[in-house]
Amino acid sequence: MRLLLIGAPGAGKGTQAERLAERFGITHISSGDLLRQHVRDLTALGQTIKSYVDQGDLVPDGVVMDMMRKPVVAAAEAGGYVLDGFPRTVEQAKASFAVAQALGAEVQAAVHLDVPRGELVRRLLSRGRGSDDTEAVIDHRLQVYLKNTVPLLEYYAGREWMFAVDGSQPPDAVHEEIVARLKKLAEFADGPW
Ligand code: ADP
Repeated sequence: MRLLLIGAPGAGKGTQAERLAERFGITHISSGDLLRQHVRDLTALGQTIKSYVDQGDLVPDGVVMDMMRKPVVAAAEAGGYVLDGFPRTVEQAKASFAVAQALGAEVQAAVHLDVPRGELVRRLLSRGRGSDDTEAVIDHRLQVYLKNTVPLLEYYAGREWMFAVDGSQPPDAVHEEIVARLKKLAEFADGPW
């Protein structure tokens, strides 16, 4: 199974991606985790992207595309993936679709984790992950989400493989709702799941 999770910072993508990966035996790939790992390991890539990540700005599309290609292709070959945080812009979606389609590894379902802004801010402040979880940076990341990722939701809107769930519910309830929706979708899908 090949899935995308789309949601604002704090929407619970990481938590849900982990559970889906375990449930379906697929690989969880978080662009944010991979980027932060590069920053921690002081790789050349890490040094290029540190200021973007720390300030809550998007890392340039080309850099993210290059970083994601190998792990996504490997996961698709190994049984599937759940992507968390990627694609995050319409450009990333368009570019990765072209690559994935050529490999027969295109996405089968996209889940929008929908959470009201007040709840997002509350969760992000209590998470306190570090340099990108201060109040000013959180505010900026939410603005970046509105400007760059909400157009991605609009771009995908109306596709039968895209659906929204109420991400303000407790994690177990969100998980079960996603699984139920995926089952329904699989019943109507032509391709193998
Ligand atoms: P959150 O969803 O809580 O913002 P992530 O871990 O997904 O956290 O992302 C953290 C940071 O990593 C983002 O603020 C951004 O700087 C960078 N990032 C992650 N994914 C992408 C992506 N697909 N394109 C560009 N930048 C990204």
